[in-house]
Amino acid sequence: MDSDAEMSCPVCGGQLRPYRRDWLRRCATCGVLRSNFEINIPATAGQLLVDEAMREAGLEALRHENNGRLLARLAALKPPPVRLLDVGSGPGFLLAQARGVGFEAQGVEPDANTVGAARAGGAAVRHGYFPDVLEAGETFDVIVFNDVLEHIPDLEAALTASVERLSPGGVLCLNCPDRDGFYFRTATVLDGLGMGGALARLWQRGLPSPHIWYFTANNLSQALKRHGLDEIGRLSLDTVGLNGLWARIRCVKSEPLLLSVAAYLFAVATYPLARLMPSDAQVCFFRKP
Ligand SMILES: [Zn+2]
Repeated sequence: MDSDAEMSCPVCGGQLRPYRRDWLRRCATCGVLRSNFEINIPATAGQLLVDEAMREAGLEALRHENNGRLLARLAALKPPPVRLLDVGSGPGFLLAQARGVGFEAQGVEPDANTVGAARAGGAAVRHGYFPDVLEAGETFDVIVFNDVLEHIPDLEAALTASVERLSPGGVLCLNCPDRDGFYFRTATVLDGLGMGGALARLWQRGLPSPHIWYFTANNLSQALKRHGLDEIGRLSLDTVGLNGLWARIRCVKSEPLLLSVAAYLFAVATYPLARLMPSDAQVCFFRKP
């Protein structure tokens, strides 16, 4: 992060300044956080740092419910059948559910490890990066970034392309982890006390596609306003379910067992409280004029 463009905040135009850690910057004006982690998404299938089968098993119940709520809101804002693009569609879970409620759903996914699985499940997925693998002039009525936008270093380019690729009246849906959420705030407090493990895990440090950004819903709204899109709704999703929690925590092969046990006990003990606190997953919806 050395060039002027990379030091400038894509949300508000402010300055991204060094903050707390040598890998972290924070916008002095809007508070958006940016890491300098490297993205190393494998272009060919190979050795995995994450046990994907275990991760999927751990997340299944929660993900199915959250995807259902997100798609129900989308269907109300832009009734199917319409063309939906899922950017970073992974193993194709959202695509399958989107097809189930009548969307003409297609995906774009750079990770070779998940494209095959998604196609085997019947999903239409193009292997590569958004928007490079789209046809010239191709547009969509709905574009979804479901836990994806926070992984994209060139946020400005991703948002510009999203607006270009939406048809008039089209809906952009951004589901991103929220830095005002209970777990992120707790991990930040622990990090300040010298226990950085939880915060590193939330940023997905050391994984092939770590988080580059942490926003709030208001940050997203401000960023899209600069691109001419008005926010038309928000949705809070649950980020932790007790069903499958252990598998989800243990799927990172390199994580020490003790840290996993601590994370599990913490999540179980604070579960009732966390449900009353601001969620770590905020979905924002925008419409193109
Ligand atoms: Zn800013």
